[in-house]
Amino acid sequence: MEVKNVTVIGAGTMGNGIAHVFAQNGFSVSLFDISEKSIEKGLATIAKNLDRMVAKERISEANKNNTLANISTHTSLEPAVTNADLVVEAASENLDIKLGLFKQLDELTQPHCILSTNTSSISITKIAAATKRADKVIGMHFMNPVPIMKLIEIIRGYSTSNQTTNTIVEMSKKLGKVPVECNDYPGFVANRILMPMINEAIISLHEGVAGVTEIDTIMKLGMAHPMGPLQLADFIGLDVCLSILRVLHDGLGNPKYAPCPLLVNMVMAGKLGAKSGEGFYDYSAGMKEAKVSIQFS
Ligand code: NAD
Repeated sequence: MEVKNVTVIGAGTMGNGIAHVFAQNGFSVSLFDISEKSIEKGLATIAKNLDRMVAKERISEANKNNTLANISTHTSLEPAVTNADLVVEAASENLDIKLGLFKQLDELTQPHCILSTNTSSISITKIAAATKRADKVIGMHFMNPVPIMKLIEIIRGYSTSNQTTNTIVEMSKKLGKVPVECNDYPGFVANRILMPMINEAIISLHEGVAGVTEIDTIMKLGMAHPMGPLQLADFIGLDVCLSILRVLHDGLGNPKYAPCPLLVNMVMAGKLGAKSGEGFYDYSAGMKEAKVSIQFS
């Protein structure tokens, strides 16, 4: 099956990047979000990122305009999905939201349409069970920032067919990405390995082993990581990190995945990282001027 029309659900951190990448590669994109504000912010982010690419002479002005012209926006679901060959769901990391969406998507999309999710950790098999087309449900786990990161972790649910997997693998290559397949177990591969490291960094801060700058600098310089784990957690979103750790903890039943109480507190306090303006760093003066916002000793 050839994928031409793509619907992206959610215009937040990931959804706008996913819409950008599909549109830049010639796909017709419908971007849907329940929040008008998220759509406006998402489109502004896409335009800003395209401007930066034009300034760096990586794309032409015409390419930027074509990309923007390939995107239509919607705040109601039905018109956004009726022509879709593929849906990429990138709404908030919440099981009830995703189950509700997939049930509706199954009813509103054409029978050939593949339903994919960008979930960081929720079971693809569980999401697929909300539909009557489990063979056409698959995980497409894009990495943040989507226009830059090459990997798409392709997650096969229990009933995902070979045909669906092959279609998505081949289409991902057309986006200039590198698809890598894995099976559906909690956290898949990327987050099963990354999140315990981030959690351990937060526990180290909480126990006063070292401060934010020290932890991030040790991991950057010592392990050649481009970003320290606390800065990365802010960048991913502390609420997203917390929900992934909860999925690992529940799904694998091992206390080593229990989220650090400091992370839980910060999320309850609304300190969600870069997107809320504050997490382990304070972003009120802009991303480049981020200052440590939390002292523990
Ligand atoms: P976000 O909070 O930035 O954006 C979520 C968007 O979903 C918001 O705009 C919200 O209005 C919208 N939304 C909520 N309910 C909706 C509904 N019923 N229908 C349509 N839109 C709805 O979140 P995000 O960081 O972009 O994460 C989105 C998904 O991508 C999650 O499943 C997350 O686990 C996954 N993910 C996140 C990252 C990351 O680094 N942030 C990386 C990989 C995958």
